[in-house]
Amino acid sequence: MSEDFEVDVRGVHKAFGTLTVLDGVDLQVRTGEVTVVLGPSGSGKSTLLRLINHLDRADRGFISVGGELMGYRRSGDRLHELREREILKQRTKIGFVFQNFNLFGHLTALENIVEAPLSAQRRSRAEATAHARELLAQVGLADKVDAYPRQLSGGQQQRVAIARALAVRPEVLLFDEPTSALDPELVGEVLDVIKQLARDGTTMIVVTHEIGFAREVADTVVFMDAGRVVEQGPPAQLLDAPEHPRTKAFLHKVL
Ligand code: ADP
Ligand code: MG
Repeated sequence: MSEDFEVDVRGVHKAFGTLTVLDGVDLQVRTGEVTVVLGPSGSGKSTLLRLINHLDRADRGFISVGGELMGYRRSGDRLHELREREILKQRTKIGFVFQNFNLFGHLTALENIVEAPLSAQRRSRAEATAHARELLAQVGLADKVDAYPRQLSGGQQQRVAIARALAVRPEVLLFDEPTSALDPELVGEVLDVIKQLARDGTTMIVVTHEIGFAREVADTVVFMDAGRVVEQGPPAQLLDAPEHPRTKAFLHKVL
């Protein structure tokens, strides 16, 4: 059913109390493709990423990462334990980059990056350290191995966070507004790293308001509003010839 898709979301619902935040969301991302998610504040973008990363659970629907489908139902769930094991397995396939970097302030760049490979994947310190140094070089921060987050600019911190997300050798990277906490002059250096990952064939879902980036990098652009996918398509279609009035209104505001 979902072999072709690295990420497969079907009919997902999520409510917080009486507030329905996701109202039957479907989203499929093929291996090696980049999906950019656009939408107004409060439309459910972060919630969707958190569900895909199993930081929170859906009320209904299916979510699969890496080919294994996971079902959710509201109650009476005897599969709970099985699902917890499956969740742990799927989470190791996912790298997550947050808006506010979320680096550990008391750890150096290198220590931030080796933390998950050492604790969750039980890789050897020597191997994890060598890999972390490679990743820091890849994001242009080879000289910041021993720097603490407070000694780095926002753009540098976010690049460390991307290196950290890559350290578990994920099959898919999720970005939640990776540049919206940055000063404008630092946005480019972070987008450049993400663009290079795209060229390398990394499967990614990127929530962002950077339309130029979406146009250049996305295979598919998804527009969400009020907990639903309103419209999706290749950038040339969704950004330049949107069909839905809500997509048009949103683009009119951000462009
Ligand atoms: P977006 O990322 O598109 O701005 P979110 O997914 O963050 O949207 O939020 C969608 C809606 O869900 C918002 O109305 C938000 O206030 C609400 N929401 C998100 N997380 C929670 C939570 N843990 N508890 C209650 N409401 C929440
Ligand atoms: Mg958000």
